[in-house]
Amino acid sequence: MNILKNYINGVWTESNSKETLNVLNPASQDVLATVPYGADTAKDVMAATVAASKAYNEWRHVPVIKRVQVLYQLKSLIENQIEPLAEIITNESGKTYAESKGEIQRAIENIEVACGTPMLMAGDFIEDIASGIDEMMIRQPVGVCACITPFNFPSMIVFWFLPYAIATGNSFIVKPSEKVPLTMMKIFEFIDQLDIPKGLINLVHGGKESVDAILEHPEIKAISFVGSTPVARYIYSKGTAHGKRVQAQGGAKNPVVVLPDADIEMSTKIIADSVYGCAGQRCLAASTIITVDDHNRTVKEALYETVKGRTTGYGLDQGVDMGPVITAESKTRIEGLIQKGIDEGANVLLDGRETSISGYEKGNFLAPTILENVALDKELIKTEIFGPVMSLISMNTVEEALNFVNSGNYGNMACLFTGSGASARKFRNEANAGNIGINIGVAAPMAQFPFSGWKDSFFGDLHGQGKHAIEFFTQTKVVIERWPKKWSRKF
Ligand code: NAD
Repeated sequence: MNILKNYINGVWTESNSKETLNVLNPASQDVLATVPYGADTAKDVMAATVAASKAYNEWRHVPVIKRVQVLYQLKSLIENQIEPLAEIITNESGKTYAESKGEIQRAIENIEVACGTPMLMAGDFIEDIASGIDEMMIRQPVGVCACITPFNFPSMIVFWFLPYAIATGNSFIVKPSEKVPLTMMKIFEFIDQLDIPKGLINLVHGGKESVDAILEHPEIKAISFVGSTPVARYIYSKGTAHGKRVQAQGGAKNPVVVLPDADIEMSTKIIADSVYGCAGQRCLAASTIITVDDHNRTVKEALYETVKGRTTGYGLDQGVDMGPVITAESKTRIEGLIQKGIDEGANVLLDGRETSISGYEKGNFLAPTILENVALDKELIKTEIFGPVMSLISMNTVEEALNFVNSGNYGNMACLFTGSGASARKFRNEANAGNIGINIGVAAPMAQFPFSGWKDSFFGDLHGQGKHAIEFFTQTKVVIERWPKKWSRKF
């Protein structure tokens, strides 16, 4: 099988590395491709950086209104190929076809917002800040930028960064997850058709070695990372130690509180989608559901009824609600966590572990699992599961639930289901998480807003998307000018 190529300096290029990894379809274990891996991928990063550096010197002088024309071009190329792209995403990541199309839509929306850069990157100007003196703040690009992305959204996450970086005048290197490199291979077929300088947007494969080369290269000025918390912490500390600006989004463990005045039918459907969408492999997946004052057990019963009807299977098959998890190791890890929860005292309402899908017996399938009465002081309640597992706990008051929400290490998302405006307002005000959902199960910020993780879910200052991305990919320059009439040459 051919080894995937990098895209460097506008050309599909063989990697310097002869070491490879297989890319597997998580539903069948079929080998889809082999991807370069190992120490020599660092040389690929060097080559991509040389090309990106050269392209940057040309691109930063292109007027912003011309730069965004490239984004319009890219948007239309993607829109014309949504179906084949979605099929690739499903085959390499496991999510359903509808979920794959959904993430492409979110990628497109980021391109659309970045098309507003001609307004968004405008600076400030004050005439006569002192008598006869004018002062302005202008935004300039930072140089070569890079993003390092996870497996769970092979298309969307790159677009939290790339369109903004390019529109503001930077050049770019993408290092996708080695588990799902094929989506970016397809997107770079579109990038190859753009009217841009060679080397402006590059694709480099690999794992830790190529990432380390990005972190250490003096010509790379800004790094955007999305992935697990231990790696995010590493990227942030090493990247900033090398003098770069870094935004690093990490893992999550998202609590959802259901008050007795919530609309039970609507809430439980939304919560089930949040927990089991993308097989729970979303950084905004609900993980722990806290029912408050649910003495009649209505929420629990409604959740059970909604969840047990969900169909697990191959993401391209009709009627499938949930695909497999990404790898066999991931499946084993999640099964181990379920067992741990049981050993720590949890009750199993639904056990998805012994799941086999006809025709896909080798797939990494786990059906929806619900654990009840999970111990609050034990490991399962604190660990990111990243799989289709719901932990149900019950509490007596909103205050108790809020204390629990705020006791976790992560701060990606917290949601509340209620019919009370006062409870909603209190939760919005007091919950320590960067993305809050009120009667929303996946509080994913739209492209106009920052993807606002807190605590161990984010390291840095400025997030991806929207105005934060514009700020991240530009550096401010303040100019103060005095032009007395008598100094100016007369014509
Ligand atoms: P991961 O951390 O294993 O990998 C992410 C990227 O880092 C990949 O490109 C990988 O090649 C690279 N990498 C892995 N180990 C590395 C190391 N030791 N040194 C340097 N680079 C390394 O994450 P994943 O398993 O691909 O993705 C799942 C994780 O991502 C979950 O924890 C999830 O919560 C998180 N995530 C967070 C967000 C968010 O917005 N906060 C969004 C999506 C996913």
